[in-house]
Amino acid sequence: MPLDPARTVQELRELRELTGDENGAQRVAWTDTWEQARGWLREKVSSTGAVEEIDAAGNQWFTLGGGPGKALLIGGHIDSVPNGGWLDGSLNVVAGVEVLRRIAEEGSPPVPVRLVNWADEEGARFGRSLFGSSAAAGSMRDQDELAKLTDRDGVSLPDAIGRYGVSLDRALEARSQLENAGAYLELHIEQGPVLESMDIPLGVVLGTFGVERSRVTFRGQAAHAGSTPMDKRRDALAAAAWLALEIRGIATSHGGVCTMGGVVTKPGIVTSVVETAECLLDQRNMDARKLAGMLAAAKEAAELFARKEDDDVEWEKIWNIEPILFDETLIGFADEAIREVSGTSHRLPSGPLHDAAEVARAGVPTVMVFVQSLRGLSHTKLEDTKPEHLELSVAALDRLASRTLEWLA
Ligand SMILES: [Zn+2]
Repeated sequence: MPLDPARTVQELRELRELTGDENGAQRVAWTDTWEQARGWLREKVSSTGAVEEIDAAGNQWFTLGGGPGKALLIGGHIDSVPNGGWLDGSLNVVAGVEVLRRIAEEGSPPVPVRLVNWADEEGARFGRSLFGSSAAAGSMRDQDELAKLTDRDGVSLPDAIGRYGVSLDRALEARSQLENAGAYLELHIEQGPVLESMDIPLGVVLGTFGVERSRVTFRGQAAHAGSTPMDKRRDALAAAAWLALEIRGIATSHGGVCTMGGVVTKPGIVTSVVETAECLLDQRNMDARKLAGMLAAAKEAAELFARKEDDDVEWEKIWNIEPILFDETLIGFADEAIREVSGTSHRLPSGPLHDAAEVARAGVPTVMVFVQSLRGLSHTKLEDTKPEHLELSVAALDRLASRTLEWLA
């Protein structure tokens, strides 16, 4: 049975019917619908003879072929956000099944080939993304905080995951799954507008952005809106506004992106000059030095604008992560595979984090392939990709898997 990319599109539609409703995909991790999706996947894989295992973090593995040698891993996540799209995560799981079928048909692979369905990539129920992949990568260190998380209905995370045989105490045992990993491949929808704007179906992902998240608070003086002359004001919002515009140039000159995602002003009434403006700033770059440069430039600009408005300014780090670069050899293979199936390839960074970033952090050579997203939309039922592009993406993943298998053998 040769590779049949059209079947992948058909099966993705089947999964959408089974686990979605009029508002979109409802495969939230640690729910009945998610379990139903895992059961559906089990049935789809069964014809290949791959052996299933659920690890200590709830990740679902299917292994084809045994023997020595480093394993080829293909991974995705079947969980979705509530009212999510039909392709985010599930595309690679379902495309991976098709690749497994093709490989199984040709006999026993030279090294083990493993499909992994990562548990709770989205973190939709408890707010903790990349649960299963961070456990497998060994980077999960927030078990104490996770133990205290509850969902909207007051169900605790330990209770919810316990229903699926997972405990925080043992989750890190999933690390053994990556011990014999030789390479990790992940196909994903782009979730952004770049490939569509270039009118090409597929691209290779260079890595995931490093991120700096900060809370920047400007402090001026509340004063009466009627009696305070314009040149006597200490307006915190004015400084925040200057900064919100300045970060555009900082992003462009450093080849990154900057977003002021929120500003809360106090006292926040129409009759007062703003005393405090608390801003949320998100900065991302593929290059660690340029990321540091963007942060330094934003701090310098904030000081300048604070002086201009006679405000004080204070910075607080909310969260940060280093850029994660994918493997040069695999990037080359992915480029070739994409060119073979669609003529043109393009290299781009990933804004969102993915399970692939966790696997790469664990030291496994990793690469991702993006397929065009229509209108760049994701995490909504409007998320979509042309069927012909989905088919090309399955073909590209298959060729990439073949090349990588040869490399590992
Ligand atoms: Zn995803």
